Amino acid sequence: MKIKNVRQILPSTCYQRCPECDELYLLPPVTARQNAYCPRCDARVRNGRDWSLTRLGAMAIAMLLLMPVAFTEPLLSIYMLGSRIDASLWQGIWQMAIEGNTITAGMVMFCLIGAPLILVCAIAYLWLGNILGMNLRPVLLMLNRLKEWVMLDIYLVGIGVASIKVSDYAFITPGYGLIAFSALVILSLLTLIHLNVEQLWRRFYPRRRCQANASQLRVCLGCHFTTVPDDRGRCSRCHSPLPVRRPLSLQKTWAALIASFIFLLPANLLPISILYVNGTRQEDTIISGIITLANTNIAIAAIVFVASILVPFTKIIVLVTLLLSIHLNCGPGLKTRMKLLRFVTWIGRWSMLDLFVIALMMSLINRDLLLAFTMGPAAVYFGAAVILTLLAVEWLDSRLLWDVHASGNPRFCERSTD
Ligand SMILES: [Zn+2]
Ligand SMILES: [Zn+2]
Repeated sequence: MKIKNVRQILPSTCYQRCPECDELYLLPPVTARQNAYCPRCDARVRNGRDWSLTRLGAMAIAMLLLMPVAFTEPLLSIYMLGSRIDASLWQGIWQMAIEGNTITAGMVMFCLIGAPLILVCAIAYLWLGNILGMNLRPVLLMLNRLKEWVMLDIYLVGIGVASIKVSDYAFITPGYGLIAFSALVILSLLTLIHLNVEQLWRRFYPRRRCQANASQLRVCLGCHFTTVPDDRGRCSRCHSPLPVRRPLSLQKTWAALIASFIFLLPANLLPISILYVNGTRQEDTIISGIITLANTNIAIAAIVFVASILVPFTKIIVLVTLLLSIHLNCGPGLKTRMKLLRFVTWIGRWSMLDLFVIALMMSLINRDLLLAFTMGPAAVYFGAAVILTLLAVEWLDSRLLWDVHASGNPRFCERSTD
């Protein structure tokens, strides 16, 4: 079917712009269970997964009930020198804070307690606010960004890594808090997979598609709605500013990347963990810790290597390559570069794994001078570097990559059944 005929059949209300490449396309009617992909960059522009607010609310209540048990009850217990020591998520964070590492403790606490709690409260707010007719826009805008900061799944892998590390020194058993924590991880993953913010926007703030000239249409990066800016230059659905491109995107991304690279140097050169065995001090950097771990369990050492070394450096290299290609107006291989950007965005959060392992081990091995484990100065630099790379991806406006191509005629959107 030729596009000119399509235009006659479909009303202009179906025009949309891709939030990742700014391509203007025609979106045919999509059923609730179908996904739609951008014809130019393959970004998923319509997600078929969708749960009702009632089901999301039920998940939020279940998560809220599990949280006190999962966060405070023992996840692991060890038997050392004739006594039993329990370690919980909260104890690990508390141990970090009282030893003076408040910044690292704050970062770990936000990803493991803060973000999941905000997720639960946001769903509850949407449910209540919908009934009471409250303004839901700020919560919907925040939910899209919150998803990657909920890192309970990574902590679960961290528990596995910590138990293998500690099994060298003591007999280790799982605590009953681990059951609650595993259930919490499953519920949070299901909620994050089925929480479709775009569908919620359409449900709470239904808007007619713009009839205006296609060239005036802009896509909102906050709510992904394609519209013409109102008198104050804002999106008509979420009221966010609607600039042509994200302001100062390149400068902010460069700044975050350079800072994260600088932080990665002390993070890798200084000791990240310190172990006291019978009064002697053993310091480990990220690399030496991985080499020690490789002697006992090569698979776990490989996971830590990928999370702590490979992912942060790959992410910086990929982002620098993307930024340079924007500055040099480089056209070829754009689809591959977009795939790389999506991949590093997806994998980047796994770098927090090492910090979570340290938090858990600090509360497990704490027998004063006989056997004690504490955090080295590298941890705070490492945490800061990981968070800065997460922000760099957030600040990069991927549409700048596609600006080398002039936008052609709107094309039909590819569809596939879920
Ligand atoms: Zn696209
Ligand atoms: Zn918007």
